[in-house]
Amino acid sequence: MTSTVSFDPTEHPHRRRNALTGEWVLVSPHRTKRPWQGQVEKSAAETRPAYDPNCYLCPGNARAGGRRNPHYTTTFVFDNDFAALLPEGPRGEVGDGELFQAQAETGICRVICFSPRHDLTLPEMELIDVRQVVDVWAEQVEELGARPDIHYVQVFENKGEIMGCSNPHPHGQIWANYTVPVEPTKEDFQQRLYFERHGRPLLIDYLAQELEREERIVVQNRHWVVLVPYWAVWPFETLVLPRRHTLALPELSGDERDALADILKRLTIRYDNLFETSFPYSMGWHGQPTDGQHHAHWQLHAHFYPPLLRSATVKKFMVGYEMLGMPQRDITAEQAADRLRQMSELHYKLDNPPVLR
Ligand code: ZN
Repeated sequence: MTSTVSFDPTEHPHRRRNALTGEWVLVSPHRTKRPWQGQVEKSAAETRPAYDPNCYLCPGNARAGGRRNPHYTTTFVFDNDFAALLPEGPRGEVGDGELFQAQAETGICRVICFSPRHDLTLPEMELIDVRQVVDVWAEQVEELGARPDIHYVQVFENKGEIMGCSNPHPHGQIWANYTVPVEPTKEDFQQRLYFERHGRPLLIDYLAQELEREERIVVQNRHWVVLVPYWAVWPFETLVLPRRHTLALPELSGDERDALADILKRLTIRYDNLFETSFPYSMGWHGQPTDGQHHAHWQLHAHFYPPLLRSATVKKFMVGYEMLGMPQRDITAEQAADRLRQMSELHYKLDNPPVLR
């Protein structure tokens, strides 16, 4: 049945195309007032000690296998004691017919402690310390990416129990491996196609148009822009984009790294302020593959995928239709950007300091 009313994406169900992956997301803006009758999760306790003798990431503490952390004072990187990938191993494939294929995979998994302080998170850290984290990310991509047996370096952070992160000590991870993983492969394909058609990187053109439209921009500074992508799947998903054409983290200048620390802090404070909770998310960097080729079509970017939907305890589930059909969202990308844009850049914990008695 067709309607005589003209299509209005702020009211009518529609689907949007993710230009980076070629996939689609279903948007149902008319459902935003639907009552919630599901699980309400308790928000995690907000106070933690600066040092926890039982934390395996705190300075000086013992880790698995008898290893001990140094008394580090800024950031600290070590090989994951429970690595999903192993650096040494045979190459090879098993092609047991078309339907049973396997390839040997090797790689390196590392953990990056962002701070010696057990009680901090990125939005609560000093700017100069966030800059340290940016430097470590870039160093790791450079070092691991230079190895002939590493073709992709995935930098990421899993934050919050709700995201399956078992330790609240501020830390991220790196998984670097021989083959390019699935998500960067999709993005490589779409960015390459666009570059072949237009002679310009996809995300450079995308950012220029987003800056003109101003509907989905959350925060920006001289080198970086954070926006809710047109095709966002998670309620408050964002994309962090450099203004300059940049293939990978190691290319960032000192000034761009300072500005990145600034934008990350401002974004994550807004996230924390949204539901006055330490905002959980998975975030990570997508730079060009480190396969020795020059990927002029790439543009460096970070994705933030936060699961919270309408409070500190109500999250978005990817179930049912999402698992079997396609991702779906109710609140539109524009509404989400608007909410984030309205947030203060003063952290709520500092805004309402606890009363000392
Ligand atoms: Zn990406």
